[in-house]
Amino acid sequence: MRIKVDATKCIGAGLCVVAAPQVFSQNEDDGLVVVLQENPPPELHASVREAARLCPALVITYEEE
Ligand code: SF4
Repeated sequence: MRIKVDATKCIGAGLCVVAAPQVFSQNEDDGLVVVLQENPPPELHASVREAARLCPALVITYEEE
C-alpha cells in the first residue's frame, strides 16, 4: 500500500490520526496532516482505509499493491 495525501486540502480535522495513529500525525503548528509511514505494513492497512473513509476533506488516497 502506498499512501498519498494532499495536505493543501487538509482542514486539520484529525480524524485520520484517531483512525490510524501509527500512520498519520498532525503538524504541531498548523494542524495539517503528516504521513508517518507512506508504505505501512499490512496490519495497518485496514486503519488506513478507515482514515481515508473518515477524512471529511477526502485528502487521503492510497494505492493497493
Ligand atoms: S482527517 Fe483529513 S482533513 Fe482531517 S487531519 Fe486528516 S487528512 Fe486532514
